[in-house]
Amino acid sequence: MNFRKSGYIHDVDRLIEQTSVEQVLAHYGKPLPDKSTGEHRMQCVFNEACIDSQYGNLTIRLDDPVNRIYCHSCQVRGNLLTLIHGLEHHRPPEGGRLRGDEFKAAVAKLKDIAGLPANEAASTSTSQSRATTSFNPMPQARTEATPHPAVPASGPLPPTPKLTNTPLHRHEKEAARALADLYQDLVTDVSQMSPEAARYVRTRPWMTPELMQKWGVGWIPGNGRSLFRKNYLVYTHRN
Ligand SMILES: [Zn+2]
Repeated sequence: MNFRKSGYIHDVDRLIEQTSVEQVLAHYGKPLPDKSTGEHRMQCVFNEACIDSQYGNLTIRLDDPVNRIYCHSCQVRGNLLTLIHGLEHHRPPEGGRLRGDEFKAAVAKLKDIAGLPANEAASTSTSQSRATTSFNPMPQARTEATPHPAVPASGPLPPTPKLTNTPLHRHEKEAARALADLYQDLVTDVSQMSPEAARYVRTRPWMTPELMQKWGVGWIPGNGRSLFRKNYLVYTHRN
């Protein structure tokens, strides 16, 4: 990888500083810190072995955006992007540090969480994106409205989304259409699920593999098709 010393890295640093731990944890449905300073503890997001060995082994330093996270079991450390990578993929960054595609994917996700337009995610950013950067200080605000840039940009703005409910298999984006049959990838064998998902299914004896397949219920495996919601047990809605 070879990032130019452009506005890109500078903007990423700013984004990391300005996006709160709460926003990220809320995005993934994780328990939020009950304070704004000091340390927050949670289960390790990088290695399942850590989760089994001890509860609350990942420390999040709430006032240190640079040395933000540290796992006392597997020793993975990093910043908010590293945390996002772990929440997405449930494994440490390759080679111990976020680089290249893993780095870019985490940045794209961070922008998504911060409410920035997705089409800026992969671009090398300029001063324009700085002007259009807007943040929701409270995670709850994300559900109320799609944030709009406070300052009109000189470049083209994304069109206002139409309020229609298009079935995935007719979606205008190919990537979305390709997800329409994602239910076929769902794991219904408890021995192949994450411990949490397996526990959920095992405590519901009526959830047999046959019924789960029939109704499109199962655990999303960590393959490339399901980057957006890994490690979830999902119920499919077909239309
Ligand atoms: Zn760990």
